[in-house]
Amino acid sequence: MGKQEILRLVVPCYNEEQILEESAARLLEKLRSLTGAGKIAAGSGILLVDDGSSDRTWEIVCALQEANPEIAGIRLSRNRGHQIALWAGLMTARKNSDAVISLDADLQDDIEVIDRFVEEFQNGADIVYGVRSCRDTDTFFKRSTAEAFYRLMNWFGVKILFNHADYRLMSRRALEALSEYREVNLFLRGIVPLLGFRQAVVTYERKAAERPTHYPLRKMLLLALDGITSFSVTPIRLITLLGIVMLGLSALGVIYYWIVYLNGGTVRGWTSQVFIILILGGLQLFATGVIGEYIGKIYMEVKARPRYFIEEERGTDGEKR
Ligand code: UDP
Ligand code: MG
Repeated sequence: MGKQEILRLVVPCYNEEQILEESAARLLEKLRSLTGAGKIAAGSGILLVDDGSSDRTWEIVCALQEANPEIAGIRLSRNRGHQIALWAGLMTARKNSDAVISLDADLQDDIEVIDRFVEEFQNGADIVYGVRSCRDTDTFFKRSTAEAFYRLMNWFGVKILFNHADYRLMSRRALEALSEYREVNLFLRGIVPLLGFRQAVVTYERKAAERPTHYPLRKMLLLALDGITSFSVTPIRLITLLGIVMLGLSALGVIYYWIVYLNGGTVRGWTSQVFIILILGGLQLFATGVIGEYIGKIYMEVKARPRYFIEEERGTDGEKR
């Protein structure tokens, strides 16, 4: 059994000054109990990614790192959003870890599950997904929007795991594979299942949020739109289909109006004209919008801008500190 492997917990933190110390303390406790029990190697640790916070988050990360050899921190040059902060953490951690677990700073996801993640990993899994068994602790609004999102994604042919957010373990080779994905529009939940390898699922219950979310509806909608257009061309196909249907209807319309014309009824038809103009105008704008969404994606991808810059790092050189 490949025992005694180095585990790293990667935690993106954006303006988390209020909870970071407590969260770090609880994670350290968990980590030390695992190391103490000999389940993971002594060099295991926590990587805190400060996603360009504007509060005292980085100061706290530095203080935590000074006080605890297990903690390391990187600070991104500006706020880049959860997905990229997570990516930066994963890419940094893969250099000196055998397995990495990503989780949110507010510890809404039960950290007791980490034991089971590690077990699955030691039984040979390369990717272990944390899946929430129930969403009772969420507000009705969050629950229903999340469900609509999953349904929509699946309907568009994007296979994402129901009730899995970004709480997961990945082995080093899964991370190496992940690092080959160069897309700028990051949607990890969509990419990770594409990697293959041995995948496992661990279910758990998620706690209610203790602080207001950093994912308001606007960001959720953007993430959904990004998720769909980065992984599926179904929207464009639907527009083609719509175009075909409209073409058929137009043919019928042409025949109908031709007959009306032949019968000398040319003055009537103001209402139908207005309808046609409105409906076609709306559809054309919609179609242009969807196509534009994809062209925008291509534009961003072609530029291939760097995803993030690290402004400062503390204690990231693995065993040395
Ligand atoms: N986060 C981040 N950058 C951002 C927004 C959020 O790194 O721009 C981090 C945040 O610190 C937390 C995680 O992403 O660790 C999830 O954020 P939050 O808990 O607000 O989202 P929710 O739990 O509501 O999905
Ligand atoms: Mg949260």
